[in-house]
Amino acid sequence: MMATRFDPRVIRRDFPTLEQLIHGKPLAYLDNAATSQKPQAVLDALDAYYEHDNANVHRGIHELSRRATIGYEEAREKVGRWINAKESAEVIWTKGTTESLNLVAMAWGLDHVAEGDEILISVLEHHSNIVPWQILARRRGATLRYIEIDDEGRWILEDLDTLLNERTRMVAISHVSNALGTINPVQRVIEAAHRVGAVVIVDGAQGAVHTKVDVQALGADFYAFSGHKMCAPTGTGVLWGKRELLEEMSPYQGGGEMINVVSRDESTWAALPHKFEAGTPNIAGAVGFGAAVDYLADIGMDGIIAHEKALLAYALERMAEIPGMNVYGPRSLEERSAVISFTLGDAHPHDISTILDTQGIAVRAGHHCAQLVMKHFGVSSTARASFYLYNIEEDVDRLVEGLGEVARIFG
Ligand code: PMP
Repeated sequence: MMATRFDPRVIRRDFPTLEQLIHGKPLAYLDNAATSQKPQAVLDALDAYYEHDNANVHRGIHELSRRATIGYEEAREKVGRWINAKESAEVIWTKGTTESLNLVAMAWGLDHVAEGDEILISVLEHHSNIVPWQILARRRGATLRYIEIDDEGRWILEDLDTLLNERTRMVAISHVSNALGTINPVQRVIEAAHRVGAVVIVDGAQGAVHTKVDVQALGADFYAFSGHKMCAPTGTGVLWGKRELLEEMSPYQGGGEMINVVSRDESTWAALPHKFEAGTPNIAGAVGFGAAVDYLADIGMDGIIAHEKALLAYALERMAEIPGMNVYGPRSLEERSAVISFTLGDAHPHDISTILDTQGIAVRAGHHCAQLVMKHFGVSSTARASFYLYNIEEDVDRLVEGLGEVARIFG
């Protein structure tokens, strides 16, 4: 079969939200690092589930429960194949990266981190990969250590061997930064962490969207990501973990579905993955996640990555023309993904975003849940444009034109 050419103009037609006018202008949606739009295939899967198959999973033996269970478990298999998990039982449904990270911090951390132990994270992390470790460190009397970043927002790894030592229990690092778009050399850190016997969790909230993830090749112990940033419904996410670790971990939450036998004083746990899925899960969300993965697989990650890279290069080149433009993050295209964090002269990022919004252009302004990164660069916030498979050069042109106007107003 001939490979079809990647065409974002054709892809755009799959996304109904992109077809509207905002303040009378076509929507240029450049806030993809926060969440993606959803293709019709995912919306149809949600409708079909609710219209025909809705029931609770696993517990029932009636027809609808059987269908709901099949849909829910088939989606787990699809997502497992997507990240090349050894088996789908290693794929735990969560409501997002945040929950996946908290799950490990509590269910693994409380049992394995003791007083005087160390947890290594980086300055580049999203708050959801900082705060759970601070909570854990405080509860267990452990110390949090940081990989620092340079003036391009890249990890400084020269002193990695002193940051890691025999007291390091956990290393929690992001694959791709949401604040700067930096693609981090995670493999190097994973290997070094394993040499001192530490367990590694990778925050893949952006990595799963913009790179081809192979959890076995990557070699981390856990990989956390969100469905809603990769075309799936909100409230969906995954914790992938190696079976050996998940097996010996305590449950995160207690309740229905996660037990084997309950007696008065104690209970035994269900097999993986159900041990970590207490209560009625987001069944429709999982089904939608499966449809999202089918959709992305059909297009192919190679085409998506190449397209995003080309758009990024084009945007960086055009934005450099704007007087007062200051772009944060790595200068080398190799080291960055589809995110551009910037400030423009004296314009407050909220004003930039407000002015662009009047032109139908959606960008984010704020600290991007990465206050340590903002502090590193001596700013309280930046504006951020982030791209995905359906963005086109015209979106970039309109962004540049809008920013030109901001520059004129504040210049
Ligand atoms: N880590 C990174 C790098 C992110 O970009 C995000 C989402 N902005 C998160 C963690 C948290 O993801 P969620 O809000 O889906 O739980």
